[in-house]
Amino acid sequence: MGGMTEPSTTDRTVFRTCPLCEATCGLQIEIRDGAVKRIRGDRDDVFSSGFICPKGSTLKQLHEDPDRLRKPLVRRGFDDDGAPVFEEVDWDEAFRVVDEKLAAVREQHGVESVGVFLGNPNVHILGASTHTRGFLKALGSRSRFSASTVDQMPRHVASGYLYGSGASMPVPDMDRTDLFVLLGANPFASNGSICTAPGFPDRIDAVRERGGRVIVIDPRRTRTADAADLYLPIRPGTDAALLAAVVHHLIGTDQVSMGRVAAQVDGSETLADAVEHFSPEWAAEVTGIEADQIRALADEIAAADSAAVYGRIGTTTVEFGTLTTWLLDVVAILTGNLDEPGGMMFPRAATERVRPPRPGRQYRVGRWASRVRGRPEVQGELPAADMPDEMLEPGEGRLRMMFTCAGNPVLSCPDGDRMDEAFASLDAMVSVDIYLNETTRHADVILPPPSALEKSHYDISFYGLSIRNISNYSDPVFASDAMTEEDIYAKLTIIALGMGADADPALVHDQMLRELLGAEVAVDGSPTADRRVEDLIDQLADGSGSVRVVDAMLRTGPYGDQFGANPDGLSVEKLRENPHGIDLGALVPRVPAILNTVEDRIDLFAGPFIEELARLDARATEWAMDGRLRLVGRRHLRSNNSWMHNLEVLVKGKARCTLQVNPSDAAELGITDGVDAVVRSRVGQVVAPVEVTESVMAGVVSLPHGWGHDLAGAKMGVARRHAGVNSNILTDPNLIDPLSGTAALNAIPVEIVPA
Ligand code: SF4
Repeated sequence: MGGMTEPSTTDRTVFRTCPLCEATCGLQIEIRDGAVKRIRGDRDDVFSSGFICPKGSTLKQLHEDPDRLRKPLVRRGFDDDGAPVFEEVDWDEAFRVVDEKLAAVREQHGVESVGVFLGNPNVHILGASTHTRGFLKALGSRSRFSASTVDQMPRHVASGYLYGSGASMPVPDMDRTDLFVLLGANPFASNGSICTAPGFPDRIDAVRERGGRVIVIDPRRTRTADAADLYLPIRPGTDAALLAAVVHHLIGTDQVSMGRVAAQVDGSETLADAVEHFSPEWAAEVTGIEADQIRALADEIAAADSAAVYGRIGTTTVEFGTLTTWLLDVVAILTGNLDEPGGMMFPRAATERVRPPRPGRQYRVGRWASRVRGRPEVQGELPAADMPDEMLEPGEGRLRMMFTCAGNPVLSCPDGDRMDEAFASLDAMVSVDIYLNETTRHADVILPPPSALEKSHYDISFYGLSIRNISNYSDPVFASDAMTEEDIYAKLTIIALGMGADADPALVHDQMLRELLGAEVAVDGSPTADRRVEDLIDQLADGSGSVRVVDAMLRTGPYGDQFGANPDGLSVEKLRENPHGIDLGALVPRVPAILNTVEDRIDLFAGPFIEELARLDARATEWAMDGRLRLVGRRHLRSNNSWMHNLEVLVKGKARCTLQVNPSDAAELGITDGVDAVVRSRVGQVVAPVEVTESVMAGVVSLPHGWGHDLAGAKMGVARRHAGVNSNILTDPNLIDPLSGTAALNAIPVEIVPA
């Protein structure tokens, strides 16, 4: 922590980026007597212009939450009721126990018997963004899991096949679009995802105010749908069928006009055959949207001067997540909306690595597979849905130890009951987490990082998904003695390398800087070519290990000061002088430079999409016929997966974990508003209070995920009082998108009976 800007405890106002969701809003924080007095939106923030949601101001409550862990915990046994008994220990003792446990498990069962789960908050935490990779490498195990396979992995895989990198994700250029189509996305509640756009609702309104149109396609009539010009209810999980029919109609009516990227695209001639079967009439049977409406949708996208067709969680956490994401991009490509203003564009983050042209390569998955189900690796990970089997099923390579990092898979991953059983069965477990939650209660050691206000912040991930190119850095608001994530992961890296628990984490920070800057100076023609790495390290900003890594990335990045070669360029110091952020401008076309494919081509059929279309045909017909109720999730503005339910200010009021049922289904099922109902899937059942509402379409029920805070041993007092039920007890590990390993958290077949 040495060298950070000294935070004082006297009255002051600081500006900071909110780290709680992808929107990256600027906050204005007033401090009085060493405590947060008030948090408001920063009106001068170059991106959010004062926008804030109800979660943003709760950084104060999160910081002050008495349940938030301040010291490491080591489990010393269990009480008479079987609940774990933890003892607070100092950091040295905690790391000593980690070292012993890891060494023992590795010695007895081997390197592959130790796995890691990374939860969603890691991408919002600077120290985790910079330092978990080194830890995973040091651990050397291929048993890596993350929230990506219960979320956005289809987006990475589709991008990998189309553009050569899972990181090249186009985002809707909504500030300039004429037509904004949203599928399975509810930014009025989520504030946007895989699309960083603070004030997303205002930006949607602005599309309409300037004469554009907004269309929302979703099984639920959300607040986003209410704000649209047109809302089309669609059966859950069938967006691929809709989009295949859109492509069918575009081709059949000669409305393909690829524009500038046409020169890059291969496979469009194959497309006509591949989608021939998927007529609007066929899709109408599957999706519940009339054929004429599908044709009108396709016509409108084709006719618009610009159109951004954007899908989110309802399109990715389904059985055809990757196919759906691929089809979204195919629609953008065919209508000339890929890489064009107002369409789907590629951001250019300030920390992006500038590299000389490379030969390109074929995107690969399946370099290894999960032990029990044989499911392929994607992006270096195995499906989170496979974790219970990997921990419970006997045999060579069975997971005997897990590290969970800012995650609560017992509540957020498929087959919740079995997931819980699996974590309980381990020989050892270590968690990096601020809470003793439903998952970390199984840990032998819990290592708690400090609150968000006690560490530096920079959105390495989200400025790469942003609708404008933005850069903004925040110093810690309060000083803290706690170890930040970068120091925790540096220490774990050292332990995983077998160097013991006593080595200095600064060794890892130093090595990271050497590797990062060493790669830069080795690039012929780069502005820092042939400079001495030592000299560059000496010039880095004061701050923690992560801050110096970010400074190195910014300074050698596309807008960087290049250590003096471009004096007006970016650096942490420059961002410190600009506490409201720096706007680097609207997105600009990047094809072909962004492509990392063989010969810089966009091959529509680089992945197994012909086969996947055939599978869609078979499965979709089955769905259309089975007449079963389908369960979907939903997002609430005051909730964020499982981890923000311990803040009274966010959970008070009407219970939110209700089972939403359409009135016609309620009548048929014999259930009424307020009663409890049993919801059953193939793998489990829960009892939830019923909320009868027109906001879900007939045939669909909805239960939010991230709830179920009533398990013994967790220490989240507020969450326990608002426990709700764990919807992921119903999530079926057999139902995944096979191309990405992503769990189908949506469109789960269920039965409902009165409790
Ligand atoms: S929208 Fe997201 S980034 Fe903005 S204040 Fe709310 S939680 Fe924070």
